[in-house]
Amino acid sequence: MPQTRSATTPLNPFAIAQAQIDEAARLLDLEPALAALLREPRRELVVHFPVRMDDGSTRVLTGFRVQFNTARGPAKGGIRFHPDETIDTVRALAAWMTWKTAVVDLPLGGGKGGVIVDPRKLSKRELERVSRGYIDAVGGILGPDEDVPAPDVYTDPQVMAWMLDEFERLRGSHAAGMITGKPIALGGSAGRGDATARGAAIVAREAAARYGVTLGKGRAAIQGFGNAGAHMARLAESLLGMRVIAVSDTHGAVAREQGLDVEALLEHKRDTGSVKGFAGAKAIAPDELFALDVELLCPSALENAITAEIAATIKAPLVAELANGPTVPEADRLLYEKGIHVLPDILANAGGVTVSYFEWVQNRSGDVWTEDEVHARLDRRLTSAFQRVAETAEERRLALRTSAYLVAMGRVAEAERLRGRV
Ligand code: NAD
Repeated sequence: MPQTRSATTPLNPFAIAQAQIDEAARLLDLEPALAALLREPRRELVVHFPVRMDDGSTRVLTGFRVQFNTARGPAKGGIRFHPDETIDTVRALAAWMTWKTAVVDLPLGGGKGGVIVDPRKLSKRELERVSRGYIDAVGGILGPDEDVPAPDVYTDPQVMAWMLDEFERLRGSHAAGMITGKPIALGGSAGRGDATARGAAIVAREAAARYGVTLGKGRAAIQGFGNAGAHMARLAESLLGMRVIAVSDTHGAVAREQGLDVEALLEHKRDTGSVKGFAGAKAIAPDELFALDVELLCPSALENAITAEIAATIKAPLVAELANGPTVPEADRLLYEKGIHVLPDILANAGGVTVSYFEWVQNRSGDVWTEDEVHARLDRRLTSAFQRVAETAEERRLALRTSAYLVAMGRVAEAERLRGRV
């Protein structure tokens, strides 16, 4: 049955995450107990906490923290503030973090957190109280050696700063490594801002070289123009030498065959809140962006953007998944059959968590690295991660996603076995 984006038939992200795990467990021929262990979260915490609002009333919010797997190190993963947050979304994202840290070979596990709240409807003081309230509620299971959160949808360095302060207040000592994505003044790392996009650009560069796609002077199309997508637009130009011919956001999509002026587009977005209405580009339908004749397509918005119907229209030889879970499984199969190389989310967007890891290392060692040093280390890590995944894909004749899961889950499985947990 064709997959649709209809609100009445949402794809449960955790069901998708578990199906991916089951497939990799089968290919790895994992013993049944280990396969059963790897498909479930190790620990989940659901909390309800009070938040005093500016008008004097008190709201009780629900939050989650899921530590999916910690066999290779402390859980690592962001905290989302979103009105539609669900435990299943958090579980799925925590699972993806586990494979993401493992595929890049970071000594970390995977986790994720969330609060059901719409931060756009909060004052700054209320946002601070939500951030502190969440840490009061879940802080007992966090820590530099236990579980290290980071920013995600609708949370930012300021939220991380409040969370750090609350955690340190409760502990009575400094603990900069308990959270990453902090402002530089509180121990944040250089190079965190564009790390996710930079990682995707590095992986795209390596994939293009391996699969004979010429990116220099080529065209890129980018769905989503937020943190990941906007930085990707810049780096597609500066690092890959491409021209960005189309971008979109929730309000609309714009295209220009000769290439968009990315800096002017960023300014337009700063002024109007959207890419829509940008002069010097024509408006296109959002789904049209996927069907453009480009060398690189970058879904950088939300889950389930590429359905089977959309996959059928894609012409790009390379798709770099900056978003988490943007391709539904049926679309994934279709793209593989069409010979399109999908650079899977757990590898293509692992630049963010890699620089988060660098931040944690710097905090724990008391060292401070320059931006150039961060960029060079990121490049080495992601280049070797891509090569390992590509080699496995070629040896076993698999899609890159399946291969990335095999590499990542193989590492987590080995850690579980060595610990004697199965
Ligand atoms: P963001 O909120 O900054 O940006 C999201 C963008 O997508 C916005 O421009 C929004 O308008 C657009 N968008 C939403 N729905 C859309 C639709 N249907 N069509 C077109 N555009 C749409 O978020 P972000 O931090 O850039 O994250 C984007 C994706 O990348 C998410 O899946 C996130 O999990 C993933 N990701 C981000 C990071 C990071 O470091 N920011 C790291 C890893 C993965």
